[in-house]
Amino acid sequence: MHDIGVIGLGAMGLASAWAGVRAGAAVIAFDAFGPGHTHGSSHGETRMIRRIYSEGRVYMPLLEQSYALWSKLEAESGERLFHQTGGLDIAPDGHALLNESRACADTYSRPHIFMDSRTANDCWPALDLPENCGVIKSPESGVLMSDAANAALARLARAGGARLNWNTPVSSVQPDGDGFMIITPEGKFPVRRVINAAGPWADEFSPGLDEVIRTERQVIGYFDGPPGDVPPFQRVLDDGRRLYLLPAGTPGRWKFGLYHHRQQAGPEFRGASEVDAEDRRLLTACLNTVLPGCPPPDRFEVCRFTNTADTRFILDRDPEQAGMVILAACSGHGYKFAPATGEAAVALALDAPLPVDLTAFTLARQLRR
Ligand SMILES: Cc1cc2nc3c(=O)[nH]c(=O)nc-3n(C[C@H](O)[C@H](O)[C@H](O)COP(=O)(O)OP(=O)(O)OC[C@H]3O[C@@H](n4cnc5c(N)ncnc54)[C@H](O)[C@@H]3O)c2cc1C
Repeated sequence: MHDIGVIGLGAMGLASAWAGVRAGAAVIAFDAFGPGHTHGSSHGETRMIRRIYSEGRVYMPLLEQSYALWSKLEAESGERLFHQTGGLDIAPDGHALLNESRACADTYSRPHIFMDSRTANDCWPALDLPENCGVIKSPESGVLMSDAANAALARLARAGGARLNWNTPVSSVQPDGDGFMIITPEGKFPVRRVINAAGPWADEFSPGLDEVIRTERQVIGYFDGPPGDVPPFQRVLDDGRRLYLLPAGTPGRWKFGLYHHRQQAGPEFRGASEVDAEDRRLLTACLNTVLPGCPPPDRFEVCRFTNTADTRFILDRDPEQAGMVILAACSGHGYKFAPATGEAAVALALDAPLPVDLTAFTLARQLRR
């Protein structure tokens, strides 16, 4: 019998498998598809990592731990997975995003530079910001090489003894004695504890979740890099919409998206959908607003992520199933946290001391909303 069964080998499941073997547990894990597949949320060459966090100070301890574990992953895999490019938060003066980023930096003593639009335009003319903007530069932010990191997590988990079963969909998880039986077309697998990291499909294994998680359709655009040297950035427009832009991995190529895109959410968006004319129009117009004169996007890609109402993850024991840990709803900003959330999920599963306080990520919190 394995100590931990992980359902889902996206970033969260892979990081859980790596954390499980580091904790000395016997780990078995399953994914419905193969390595690097495009049916979930974790594929793609790059993800942004920000060291001061406009989403809230509650993320800062988890972020601190993530930075430490990304370094550990780099050291153990021998690969460069994090590029410290610096990053910018840009928003209209006085916007909550700027206030929260500053509060994170001040509370946790992280280096940062606050500047007005004129100074920012002198540094990065391509931004061409209007007068009413404030900018915070975080020199510690950067880019994670996500496809390579996912492969490294899988390799290290396997090297530690984890059994990773790709192309093996879990059909159900049934209580079995003190643990569970994981049922797949390939057979039944007894485990003591389960980590449910099934992303958009997590509610299939923790039924109460369907009340609080929603899958959102997201479209990203690719373009030939911004003129000049611009770090990855997020920008809130005057109408409140927020864009993120970062290097796409291939030299000279960038990618970008609009958080919540066209507000399309629901179970029907778990599957694939085509890019349409409205997606193209919307993203082309947004890019032209934030990088005027930049070449328009020439490739688009549909993907999805899973959110709660306030975009905070669920990292908690399933109140309905003793021994099941939920690591879900990791949203459009969860990748950077994967090593720390995986580690915390394993601690919950093994009843070990928690590496960071998880109060902000309980399921009960979401159900109360
Ligand atoms: C376009 C986009 C841009 C993003 N940008 C950033 C960013 O810049 N920075 C950042 O930090 N985060 C970012 N994110 C968010 C981040 O990528 C996600 O939070 C993260 O990848 C979620 O990982 P996951 O493992 O929870 O989910 P997933 O990657 O969806 O993994 C779930 C896995 O479960 C498997 N599964 C489901 N059901 C079953 C079953 N029955 N049996 C077996 N396996 C099953 C699926 O096949 C899948 O592999 C972005 C996300 C998107 C979509």
